Amino acid sequence: FLFLIGLGSIAVLIPISYFLAGKSLQPIKDTFEDQKKFIANASHELRTPLTVIQTNVEVLKLKEDEQIKDNMKWLNNIASEGETMAKLISELLLLAQAENQRLAIDKEVFDISSMCQQMVELMTELANEKEIELSENISPGIQYRGDEERLKQAVRILVDNAIKYTPVGGKVQLCLVQGKRHLVIEVKDTGIGLTDEEKAKVFSRFYRVDDARNRETGGVGLGLNIADYIVKKHNGKIKIDSIPNKGSTFSIVLPKSNQKPDSKKNNIKGD
Ligand code: ADP
Repeated sequence: FLFLIGLGSIAVLIPISYFLAGKSLQPIKDTFEDQKKFIANASHELRTPLTVIQTNVEVLKLKEDEQIKDNMKWLNNIASEGETMAKLISELLLLAQAENQRLAIDKEVFDISSMCQQMVELMTELANEKEIELSENISPGIQYRGDEERLKQAVRILVDNAIKYTPVGGKVQLCLVQGKRHLVIEVKDTGIGLTDEEKAKVFSRFYRVDDARNRETGGVGLGLNIADYIVKKHNGKIKIDSIPNKGSTFSIVLPKSNQKPDSKKNNIKGD
């Protein structure tokens, strides 16, 4: 199983990486347009077999069989690698859609305070696993006009990173503050931090500060590129304040002009 997953990911990731790095890979498809379609289809098609692998592993894990219990470690390895691969496939699919201009951003009014609150609840278990104290300071009841699912994804990437790049026992906080012209979602951590030089590069595709140091965290350097894309689609930006070995604050700054003051017209699709 592990061997197959490994082989599958190499076979798929090499062409995809080449495409996303902007290099041509002539043997696969002739034109750039074809390549983009190929990536989108390949990512889509990969999800089905991977879901089958994951479901089968979960079924095996539930069996009351001594032999299976003795080999639980291997099954857990497969499950965890499968999860990493599923995340990677959805990140690649999203990027391919963005490249194709097919990534729809639906703007509707939603409660951004509740969305942030939900995110804290969702990430608490992950933080607990690393004995990281995840807290929040969220102003209640703030309405915002934007794509809730996509913004949630951006916040999740930042919180996920904050937990990943903070050593055991550290602290992460998610804040939502409302200024005169902007809304700011801040994700603060007491983690490994970034130098100015690193800060300038973290939004690039496949960039990871120190691949060897980061290897165990399981990312590939696409998260911040995606978060940046989503926030820019809302006319906002992501700011980074960081001190190496002390911690970082990643702030999503969203213009309030995106907000819809007229509550009668709550559901406006597209922009
Ligand atoms: P990934 O986490 O999958 O490697 P990202 O694009 O999300 O990819 O992040 C790029 C790089 O930026 C990471 O590999 C890490 O080196 C650095 N980074 C991101 N978030 C933080 C953080 N909160 N603290 C320190 N470094 C970070």
